[in-house]
Amino acid sequence: MKINKKPILFFYALVAICLVELLWWTFLLINSNSEIYEYRNEIIELQRVKAKYELVDLIRSGKFHFKSQPDKIDTSKITAFIENQYPKFEFIFLEEGNIYNSIDLKIKPSVTEKFEDKLHRRWVMFISESSFFVIMILLGIFQIYRSFKSEVDLNSQQKNFLLSITHELKSPLASIKLYLETILKRDLSKEQISEFATSSVKDIDRLNDLVENMLIATKIENQAYTYPKNEINLSVVLQEIIEKFEKSLPETASLKTKIDEGIKIFGDVFTLKIVFLNLLENALKYSGKNAEIKINLEQLGSNIFIKISDNGVGIPEKEQSKVFGKFYRIGNEKTRTTKGTGLGLYIVKEVVERHSGKIQIEPNEPKGTIFNLTFSKET
Ligand code: ATP
Ligand code: MG
Repeated sequence: MKINKKPILFFYALVAICLVELLWWTFLLINSNSEIYEYRNEIIELQRVKAKYELVDLIRSGKFHFKSQPDKIDTSKITAFIENQYPKFEFIFLEEGNIYNSIDLKIKPSVTEKFEDKLHRRWVMFISESSFFVIMILLGIFQIYRSFKSEVDLNSQQKNFLLSITHELKSPLASIKLYLETILKRDLSKEQISEFATSSVKDIDRLNDLVENMLIATKIENQAYTYPKNEINLSVVLQEIIEKFEKSLPETASLKTKIDEGIKIFGDVFTLKIVFLNLLENALKYSGKNAEIKINLEQLGSNIFIKISDNGVGIPEKEQSKVFGKFYRIGNEKTRTTKGTGLGLYIVKEVVERHSGKIQIEPNEPKGTIFNLTFSKET
């Protein structure tokens, strides 16, 4: 399926533009903030020079001379005057040279510190706000990337599903047709007819299982299935499934069971049967002719444990969470040799969870897979 990448490319370009704009605006803000700081310094310096000239004029007019000693200046009066009129400045008296050279005004350190503090606080504000926006944008991209990827994955899985379902439907139909045509056209012995009929029934069973799996998966997905629960004897149900399954086992395969008797659970027998059958079919399908399958059922306290193990190809660790996905099958449809739709484990997981149970995969030694199911008796 061809995926239209144009919208996503457009989106990435838009995001890149937004990021560049954001960085550019942050840079501009920081820059203008520094410029404002410099202007403020210049203004205050101008105010200082103006105040100094005014002070010199006032001193020359004799406003700050001692009345008793008119040639001497009362510096405490000047200090008080400056504090009152120009609170940003400090008065300095140097006691040498003429009036202009002997006095000075200095910007108070507290004033400079206040400006610097404001400048730094604004820097921090701009940088933290833009970092926040960058993080939000990146989180947004990540989310969109994830949903895009899951859509792509779903697309390819659906493609896989369609390919395999067509094959799964066509091949049993073709063989049933062939068997029937042979029976009709040729004069066959009773044994041969019975052999062909048995094979046809097997194919019909396969078709039936497939349709049932699809129906149940659709019902589960639409939440249309209600899981009618009753108290059931799990030991008996599992034993029945095993007996049905044993018939499909090739002679070279082996099946060992250890089923503790009388284990009861409150559950839906129809879907639980589907769970066991799917797991057993997988164990055989992915282990080949020499499959060694083991099934354990036991109860410890209020917990029920079911273990189904095989000696097959195994499931790599990174695939273990994926195999429960709808239509998910390991590998590529073109290179795969086994048949299937990728619905089995999806149904299994949904059903187990609807029974408040857990399903876990672990590797078998030396090779193969173990499926561990845990149910609580209380549920
Ligand atoms: P179907 O819908 O007919 O069951 P399927 O067997 O391919 O098709 P699932 O049962 O959902 O689908 O399994 C998903 C995939 O997980 C399989 O395609 C297979 O690659 C892998 N898998 C499942 N069980 C086993 C197992 N016991 N050993 C190795 N791989 C397994
Ligand atoms: Mg399967």
